[in-house]
Amino acid sequence: MPEPLLELRDVTQVYRSGTRAFLALKDVHLTLAEGEFVVLLGPSGCGKSTLLRIATGLQKPTSGVVLYRGEPLRGVNPRATIVFQTFALFPWLTVLENVEVAAAARGLPPAERRRRALEMLDRVGLDGFEEAYPRELSGGMRQKVGFARAMVVEPELLCLDEPFSSLDALSAAALRGELLELWHSGKISTKAILMVTHNIEEAVFLGDRLLLMEKDPGRIVAEVRVPLAPPRRHQTGEFRAVVDEVYALLAGETQPEPVELGSAPGEPGRVRALPDVPVASLAGLVEALAATPGGRHDLYKLAGDLHVDSDHLLRSVEALELLGFVTVAKGDIALTPLGGTFAGAGILARKEIFAARLRRLPIVRWLLELLEAAEGGRLRGEVVARALELQFPQKEAEKQFKVIVDWGRYAELFAYDDATDALYLETATRATT
Ligand code: ADP
Repeated sequence: MPEPLLELRDVTQVYRSGTRAFLALKDVHLTLAEGEFVVLLGPSGCGKSTLLRIATGLQKPTSGVVLYRGEPLRGVNPRATIVFQTFALFPWLTVLENVEVAAAARGLPPAERRRRALEMLDRVGLDGFEEAYPRELSGGMRQKVGFARAMVVEPELLCLDEPFSSLDALSAAALRGELLELWHSGKISTKAILMVTHNIEEAVFLGDRLLLMEKDPGRIVAEVRVPLAPPRRHQTGEFRAVVDEVYALLAGETQPEPVELGSAPGEPGRVRALPDVPVASLAGLVEALAATPGGRHDLYKLAGDLHVDSDHLLRSVEALELLGFVTVAKGDIALTPLGGTFAGAGILARKEIFAARLRRLPIVRWLLELLEAAEGGRLRGEVVARALELQFPQKEAEKQFKVIVDWGRYAELFAYDDATDALYLETATRATT
């Protein structure tokens, strides 16, 4: 076993407000060995950020022990750095100066600061932008400066709090690649990485070990090892298998898929129709559930609280159940960790989660296969609508077409041009490699 760099034992964090005490973390055990990239995944409010702050010594837990290289951590750990979702750069300093300032905090002499800052900027791909000011850079480039600033300190423990979630898909993919290259090159002094994300694909792409968390109280409930050697590729069967495992754990799946999801059109068995609800109202309901205190909600009371008619609510709930975002038992509804993760995720991670869940629905798979087989990945919507009429009564077939298009568009699995009735595979904008 490599030496543990960081160890959390029985860490509990209680936040008090007035007379109420809130268990943000309960009995958390976590070991981070040298050479490990560990990812924390879980719904909003399960204590991920709290855990990062405790791991770096920015916060002392209510109880429990934090050991760094076997020694109890006292105060802020000078060997650790956190990169946040949006990195605040000094707007009046150039890119180079922003990185140099961080190096200065380590007490390096000026010439050495400059040398290291230049080297780090080069490594994150900002060569040529040294004299630019933050306002002249794109969001992706600014985040790269943030990474350079964190790395120039040469942290042994690098903590990342959703570092890619505010970036567009292409910049996020590029920066993930650069981070991995730095990490695997062994040219940096970072010995372990602990990252928080809501993005499941990102977690499987980067992590050696994923820790799944739940809330109320915040705790680690499962661990998934990712036994994939670099370079990892999103579309390979082994990658998808790990992604599926994580989704199943987060959605709390217990039923075999064919029982739960039905068959695809043209196959024997029942084709399960998608509930007729727009994606926007699904997302709205997940957010409302995440924002309401308490784990379970009475369905009928919820209809009143949210001012929606119960028929619409029941269809939404059926859709969310199908997606694994909620569970329903005895008239009560509760978000699954996957639903909570979706609620806390940014737009891109939401689309990824939604896409992954849609891809497992037989009717969506069927449509994707039709499109893949079609010339140029393109079909007239009418052709699909006709095929659906073989499965459903005409009115229902129309609804199904509308719902699949709405959901699939949101997930960016395919696009639909209303004007030309063209349905086509969305490949150009997906940044997965
Ligand atoms: P996550 O990063 O998983 O969203 P956080 O660690 O930010 O979770 O928060 C966990 C829970 O603790 C949330 O319910 C949050 O509202 C609460 N919390 C976080 N920081 C504080 C604080 N300083 N005081 C009171 N409650 C807090």
